[in-house]
Amino acid sequence: MMKKIIQQLTTSSRVLVASHAKPDGDAIGSLLAMGIALERIGCEVTRYNESAIPAVYRFLPLVDTIQRELTDVAGFDTAVILDCGGLDRVGSAVDAITTIPTIVNIDHHTTNTRFGQYHLVDVNACATSEIIYRLIHAMGLELNVEMATAIYTGILTDTGSFRFSNTNRAAFSICEAMVAIGVNPSAVARHVYGTYSLGRIKLLNLALDSIEISSNGHISIMTVTREMLSDTGTQPEDADGLINYARRIQDVKVAALIHELENGNNVSRGRKRFHVSLRSDGSVDVARIASDFGGGGHAGAAGFSVESSLAELKKTIYSLSEGFRGTCHLN
Ligand code: 5GP
Ligand code: MN
Repeated sequence: MMKKIIQQLTTSSRVLVASHAKPDGDAIGSLLAMGIALERIGCEVTRYNESAIPAVYRFLPLVDTIQRELTDVAGFDTAVILDCGGLDRVGSAVDAITTIPTIVNIDHHTTNTRFGQYHLVDVNACATSEIIYRLIHAMGLELNVEMATAIYTGILTDTGSFRFSNTNRAAFSICEAMVAIGVNPSAVARHVYGTYSLGRIKLLNLALDSIEISSNGHISIMTVTREMLSDTGTQPEDADGLINYARRIQDVKVAALIHELENGNNVSRGRKRFHVSLRSDGSVDVARIASDFGGGGHAGAAGFSVESSLAELKKTIYSLSEGFRGTCHLN
């Protein structure tokens, strides 16, 4: 498949590269590295992401070339979709992107729907950035420090700094190679983890205070409301990573972060829209739980969006522990 994809890309002249809305380090890193690789082989490249790039990733080289608007898709031969379990994960441009003649799907989510004509889906890859590294290598290209920084950041963040269950040998070997090319690990870490605004620290305080736990101690719930964001002057992206505190609690098997979204047009009274992030300690497959709610992800980290009242949603999440028979063992 890798050969066929390289063949498709080398014969394309205008290529769209896009990754999932509300991007994380892997969505941005894989997009930036792929963008440079495509330009190297002579493609005219448009880099697209629906959402604003979180402040902690704005240090990445060429990040300003990512555009949030997609006006005319008629001229693209090929779309390369990165880190998306389903094509709808790109956001509101999904219908426009569907009209692009060839779609290449590169991803590592267990719930990937195999959309598009070409798939490069490896659920054992620690990050989409790992797959992009292998693809760039197979294209016969040398990585420059810009590409290396993007790949390194994608792997560092998706493995939770080499702590999560997706941390594999490739994570270390590729990051070692990226450092050899010139990536500065402490500089990347300072940008990604060491630059909290005061508001973000205040949000952390409110979020920690919101943690509740089920009576059997197996489920923890953290809540981040719109009000908390406005009180602390923070953005939704400032809640990224907070769920790890809820997951660290002793005996917790599944941690949920309920994130109140901006209200949509058609939400009925008393109900709101929420994104729920799920993390497991390795004994429960949260991708299966998220799929049941129309979302997806990985066995150890997944998510979904719902319309509900907050009280009802918490009840639903607490009731999940009855279904923990469908457990798995992550390595
Ligand atoms: P997070 O909880 O940080 O938003 O996402 C955790 C993982 O689940 C990520 O790999 C993300 O791509 C995936 N994920 C989160 N929300 C959704 C969703 O609504 N649909 C799908 N298919 N995957 C999701
Ligand atoms: Mn990823």
